[in-house]
Amino acid sequence: MSKNIGIPVPPPRRSCDDPNCPFHGNLRVRGKLLKGVVVSTKPEKTVVVEREYYHYVPKYKRYERRRSKIHAHLPPCLDAKEGDEVTIAECRPISKTVAFVVVEVKRNA
Ligand SMILES: [Zn+2]
Repeated sequence: MSKNIGIPVPPPRRSCDDPNCPFHGNLRVRGKLLKGVVVSTKPEKTVVVEREYYHYVPKYKRYERRRSKIHAHLPPCLDAKEGDEVTIAECRPISKTVAFVVVEVKRNA
């Protein structure tokens, strides 16, 4: 059984014993909820998510495209490959660079 994490996402199909899993461990999610695309799965149990957003430049009254990379924890009950669209939720800092956790993976065929 997985816990209700307070975010309307489908619960993962399998279970895991990762204490840093919001569904099966003790990790609480709160704060921001973001979507992005996985660009790297090289770090263990972590994915790098790239996000594109628009930033307004008042001088030219136009938007510029900006992108940022966010490191997010990937619990073992979820699979994410490069190119997958994921939803990440803010959590307490898990390491120096990780303060988000993947809560949903949408496969891109
Ligand atoms: Zn889990």
